[in-house]
Amino acid sequence: MEREIIISPIGGIPSSVTVPVRKAVAQNFGLPARIVPLLQHIDFAYSPHRQQHHSTPILDKLAALLPHPGCRILAITERDLYIPILTHVYGEAQLKGTAAIISLYRLSDSNPPSLVQESGLTTQRSLKEALHELGHTLGLKHCPDSSCLMHYCRKMSDVDHKTDRFCRYCRVWLQDALEEDRLSLG
Ligand SMILES: [Zn+2]
Ligand SMILES: [Zn+2]
Repeated sequence: MEREIIISPIGGIPSSVTVPVRKAVAQNFGLPARIVPLLQHIDFAYSPHRQQHHSTPILDKLAALLPHPGCRILAITERDLYIPILTHVYGEAQLKGTAAIISLYRLSDSNPPSLVQESGLTTQRSLKEALHELGHTLGLKHCPDSSCLMHYCRKMSDVDHKTDRFCRYCRVWLQDALEEDRLSLG
């Protein structure tokens, strides 16, 4: 079974974000990665009360859109995301699942995020959050090392502080998870 990761921009996500994210995903997971818009909008997840989008139903929808069982999907939106217990999230993923999403809303330098061009800083943050959320889909949990990609970030300064790499422990977990994933798909 061929495995791949699909980067799925929702709406007009600039290529200054999608292209570097695709490249970093392919490099870090050692899998082919393609940019394919699978979901046109996320209006179904909008909460008029919170004026934000609830990320969990978006993950369910994305998982149902998988083109084949060897795929994982990372969606990118410019809308603000939340889960009920938190004021906002930079992203969410199905733990040991297939779908993940990140939001540029708070990662972006400009608010609302620019549809034309994003700065290097926005791209760098997006890339870290993309790798973090995809790490969760492979079963990786949060890491106490504040410089590791799997560190849980509450504030933007936490995101900026961490590196764009998995620490050596998380790297071992990741290699094992990728191997287990490969075997399970046959
Ligand atoms: Zn996390
Ligand atoms: Zn780590």
